[in-house]
Amino acid sequence: MPLNHYLRRTASACLLPLAQRAARAYVAGPELNDAVRLADELAQQDFANTLGFWDGEGDSPRAVADHYLAALDALAKAPRGGYLSIKLPAIGDSRLLLGEVLGRARQLDLRVHFDSLGPETADLMWAAVADAASSGVELGCSLPGRWRRSVDDAARAIRLGVVPRVVKGQWADPAEPERDPRGGFLEVIDRLAGRAPRVAVASHDAPLAREAIRRLKAAGSSCELELLYGLPQRASLAVAASEGVPVRFYVPYGRAYLPYCLGQAQRQPWLLWWLLRDSLAAMILPTGRTA
Ligand SMILES: Cc1cc2nc3c(=O)[nH]c(=O)nc-3n(C[C@H](O)[C@H](O)[C@H](O)COP(=O)(O)OP(=O)(O)OC[C@H]3O[C@@H](n4cnc5c(N)ncnc54)[C@H](O)[C@@H]3O)c2cc1C
Repeated sequence: MPLNHYLRRTASACLLPLAQRAARAYVAGPELNDAVRLADELAQQDFANTLGFWDGEGDSPRAVADHYLAALDALAKAPRGGYLSIKLPAIGDSRLLLGEVLGRARQLDLRVHFDSLGPETADLMWAAVADAASSGVELGCSLPGRWRRSVDDAARAIRLGVVPRVVKGQWADPAEPERDPRGGFLEVIDRLAGRAPRVAVASHDAPLAREAIRRLKAAGSSCELELLYGLPQRASLAVAASEGVPVRFYVPYGRAYLPYCLGQAQRQPWLLWWLLRDSLAAMILPTGRTA
């Protein structure tokens, strides 16, 4: 085995436990109670929330759907309104299980949001959203700026009355892998501005969020800033305050993932610094970050 390959493998093996610990800084905890406690703390600071159960490898679609149902029940009792974020592939793309989740959401009058995942999952997701649009449940859907298709999907969201959440996107577009996420983000915003009544701007990139909020407001669309618990928030909160828009936190719980890819550490060495800092943060687990 070549020496540098051996060294790289050894380094990855050493980083793995650190990465597992660091990832804990990005979830409220393993249980729904952890998420509810954090959402209550955020509500005291006047922040709304969306709860999202992040599943692990061993979780069956049935078990994930049960987590979603329990989260809806908890949201219904929460002092400050929140909504549920789901991942359709985590319930095996099952229409039966989705129907159960939507049925409970309708009873409790709560919004259900479809997180976007890999581009190969997008068609199935939009088919499910289109079918669910007449269910009487308020729906939301993520639109990744990194995907060329998102400009058309934005028009579809408007047509279906779905509340759009614009994100950069964690997965590249295979048809255009080099597509600029910031440029794409603003293209989607421009498509929505003045046409969608409400838009969630979901980015920790403060200058980008400011530009998006300004374009939406100028066109008469109301908006809120959505932030992911655990990612740096100070600059983003300052943008929301100066632009006068409300803030909502996505509170993940369950299985912890790092929101950045360690495989990129050779090209982006600051990831190792984040890793170290995040593993320290995970030992303290405060409410979000102020960095
Ligand atoms: C509320 C919410 C919901 C989301 N939902 C989805 C979804 O459904 N589907 C999907 O694919 N993606 C989703 N995402 C993730 C999103 O696509 C991006 O991957 C993620 O938000 C990072 O991009 P960014 O625009 O926030 O800014 P970035 O450009 O990543 O970061 C902004 C700033 O924060 C710094 N920064 C970023 N991460 C760290 C860190 N760990 N430590 C220190 N500094 C850091 C950067 O240097 C930069 O200055 C969601 C994000 C949010 C906030």
